Amino acid sequence: MEKQELLYEGKAKKVYTTPDPELLIVSYKDDATAFNGLKKGTIQGKGAINNQMSNLLMAALEKRGMPTHLVRELNPRETLVKRVAIVPLEVIVRNLAAGSFSKRYGVEEGTPFDEPVLEFSYKNDELGDPLLNDDHAAALKLATREELAVIREYAFQINRLLRELWTDRGIILVDFKVEFGRLPDGTVVLADEISPDTCRLWDAQTREKLDKDRFRRDLGGVEEAYRQVMERLTSGLR
Ligand code: UDP
Repeated sequence: MEKQELLYEGKAKKVYTTPDPELLIVSYKDDATAFNGLKKGTIQGKGAINNQMSNLLMAALEKRGMPTHLVRELNPRETLVKRVAIVPLEVIVRNLAAGSFSKRYGVEEGTPFDEPVLEFSYKNDELGDPLLNDDHAAALKLATREELAVIREYAFQINRLLRELWTDRGIILVDFKVEFGRLPDGTVVLADEISPDTCRLWDAQTREKLDKDRFRRDLGGVEEAYRQVMERLTSGLR
């Protein structure tokens, strides 16, 4: 399958049409942004790592019954996916307090929750991705009540599966963001990516951050952290 025209260029990915109207090619870039595009940089090798990690994780989720947009990996940084209409929600699941949750509610980073916390943000850069609840999402017609219920169920299921997978590799899944899309027949599937750009991953022993927070907070060793997380995913070692 070959790329036709550039359909969309985002902060970390380019999306191309293909001869098949139902399929798109996603091409991952090394570019990184944070704080709604205010901070910009490059993370060498990130595109290839995020592409391959996202595909491995989505394939693992598919195997356990989660529908995703994944079709097949084409090369280290490109993947063939089903074309979906993205539901404009950032679906966040948290196991420990961090990032915007810690800041907003004054809770120390690393504080565990008794049960996972699900959060929606409105995917809208101009508005700064504001936090919203089910009623807001329904009022804004971002998704139907039925879709919101499915998305909630899927998000918790993804959390259970990914937590187990990362725990086996000595990594704590602190939180993550996923996005869902609708296939032409209306079916909701997991889309976008799952990578150190979209997850907080901490070493279970040292609590060292192995994700995009190293870039956001200028902690150094960004490339090395991404490489290490990929290595631990594929080797399955602690
Ligand atoms: N996240 C993301 N894209 C965003 C916002 C958040 O992938 O636009 C991820 C982020 O990497 C983290 C989780 O969602 O794993 C929760 O992020 P949070 O709300 O704490 O926001 P942040 O502190 O990253 O601004």
